[in-house]
Amino acid sequence: MSADDIRRAELAANLARVRARIDAARSTAGRTDEVTLVAVTKTYPASDVALLADLGVTEVGENRDQEAAPKAAEIGDRVRWHFVGQLQRNKVKSVSGYADVVQSVDSVRLATALDRAAAAHGRIVDVLLQVSLDADAHRGGAVPGDADPDRGLDPTAAAVADAGALRLAGLMAVAPLGVPPEKAFSRLAEIAAAFHVDHPTATVLSAGMSDDLESAVSYGATHVRIGSALLGKRH
Ligand SMILES: *Cc1c(COP(=O)(O)O)cnc(C)c1O
Repeated sequence: MSADDIRRAELAANLARVRARIDAARSTAGRTDEVTLVAVTKTYPASDVALLADLGVTEVGENRDQEAAPKAAEIGDRVRWHFVGQLQRNKVKSVSGYADVVQSVDSVRLATALDRAAAAHGRIVDVLLQVSLDADAHRGGAVPGDADPDRGLDPTAAAVADAGALRLAGLMAVAPLGVPPEKAFSRLAEIAAAFHVDHPTATVLSAGMSDDLESAVSYGATHVRIGSALLGKRH
């Protein structure tokens, strides 16, 4: 077998395991709706993205523009590209050129900059608002109940909803370190329920990674972002 065949077999086995975990979690939660797998390919080469696409993966996540831009240029629209990392405003021009979904919008200023950049490319970008589940919000993410345009969830949602080149698609969160995922994701489910009252069509809930996807699915995640369980441990 060539190195490519070996890697393909390894990714196929990992993908089968991850899909089985998602299905088991859906079944435990009594869910009949789909849960979308976003393969987070950061630190792994474009050749892995191509293999995953061959294996039926349609959604790919990256967290750094310097790495994502060349991979997206190489692979193109064989997959949908999700930007899942902290987004600096000086990167919106590049990111809005290839990202189909930006999962990490957390301020009015970022939303406005991303809207302008997407419009300049003539593209519509789906946006998830990253929600902070940390009491003190140092790690990024918009804060529910905060009216400050620099970090409030409601003003950021309004800015995205009003933006011509952005589509408000839902919410994203990362469970904080040192907190049981059940606690973080049950809080996220409450935030999402309140959010849906004002934004009923923004139904995406992106939560859950390799170590906590079962908990996220039990609390209603529609998208899970899986890196190491699919591609291997990052070094
Ligand atoms: C790296 C990353 C993931 C995937 O994490 P794993 O633990 O490797 O599954 C998910 N979401 C974000 C925002 C990430 O940066």
